Amino acid sequence: MELQEVGRDVYACLQEDTGLGKSNSGLINRGGGLVVDTFWDLPHTREMIKHYADVWPKPAERVVNTHRNGDHCWGNQLFAGAEIIAHRACGEMFATEKPEAMQALRNAGGAGADSIMKVFADALSEFDFSGIELTPPTTLIDDTLDIELDGVKVSLIHVGPAHTAGDVIVHLPEQGVVFTGDILFRLCTPIGWEGTFDTWIAALDTIVALDPKVVVPGHGPLCGVEGPNEMKAYLEYVRAESKPLFEQGLSVLDACKKIDVGPYAGWTEPERLVFNVARAYRELRGDPFDSPIDITEIFTSMFQLREAWSSKS
Ligand SMILES: [Zn+2]
Repeated sequence: MELQEVGRDVYACLQEDTGLGKSNSGLINRGGGLVVDTFWDLPHTREMIKHYADVWPKPAERVVNTHRNGDHCWGNQLFAGAEIIAHRACGEMFATEKPEAMQALRNAGGAGADSIMKVFADALSEFDFSGIELTPPTTLIDDTLDIELDGVKVSLIHVGPAHTAGDVIVHLPEQGVVFTGDILFRLCTPIGWEGTFDTWIAALDTIVALDPKVVVPGHGPLCGVEGPNEMKAYLEYVRAESKPLFEQGLSVLDACKKIDVGPYAGWTEPERLVFNVARAYRELRGDPFDSPIDITEIFTSMFQLREAWSSKS
C-alpha cells in the first residue's frame, strides 16, 4: 500500500492489484478532509488511515463511497462521526454483501473443502472480515453533488447503472483528477454487478470527456485517459464476441472458451471474462439490468475456464 500525491491537495492510497478486493482510495486534505472509498476490512483501512495521517492528521469529516461493494465501503466505521456520501442506490443496496458470509468463505478452505472453495478461500486469506459493522451512507445523492473544501471544488457525478446501480465518480476540475471507483479497472479484468454495457461505456466516455491529467481507478495503477479508452475497447470487444456465440446456443462457459482474450490476457484475472459474457447474455435475453446474478455459478465457471486455459497452454 502506498500514498501518492496526484494533484495539489489530492492524494491516492494505492494497493497493488493482486486479485480480488485490492482497491484504491483517495484523500483531499482540505476543508475538514474528504476520503474517497474505504477498504475491504478494518486492518487494511487502518493502514490507509496511517498513510493519510502523514498529510492530514485529523479524522476526515467526509467519506464518499463510489459504490456498494465491500472493498470500497466496509472500512467506513473507522471514520466515526463522518458524513458518508453515496448515491441512493448504493444506500439501498448497502447490505447486499455480508461481512459474516465473506468471513465464512475465507475460513472455508480447510481439509475436506473442494478445489473451488480452496481457491476462493486462498484469494481471501489476506483479509480479515471480523469486527465489520456495516456503516451505510448518511447523505444520499440522486444525480450530482458539488462540494467546496476550503476552495477546492469536488464534483460527485452519478454514472450508473454501470458496474453497480449507484456508481459515482469524483472529479476535481482544477486539479484534473478523477477517482473512478470501479467504473475503471486498470490492467485488470472488470467485474460488473447491476448495470448495462451501454451505461458502462457511456460512463467511461464521461471520464474521458472530463479530460483529466490523472485517473485513479478503483483497481490497478494510476493512468491517464488511455485507461478508460482501453477498458471501453474491452467491453465492446466482449459484447461483440458474445453475440454470435449466444445465437449458436452456447453456454456462457463454452462461449468464454471460444473467445480469444488476446491483448487482454495479461490483465489480472482474465477469467473474469465469465462475468462480462454473462452480462452480454443477460442483455441478449432481454433480462433487466439488475436481474439476480448466480455468483456460485459464475465463480465455478471462472474456475473451470482457468482450468481449460491452463490445460491448453
Ligand atoms: Zn472494487
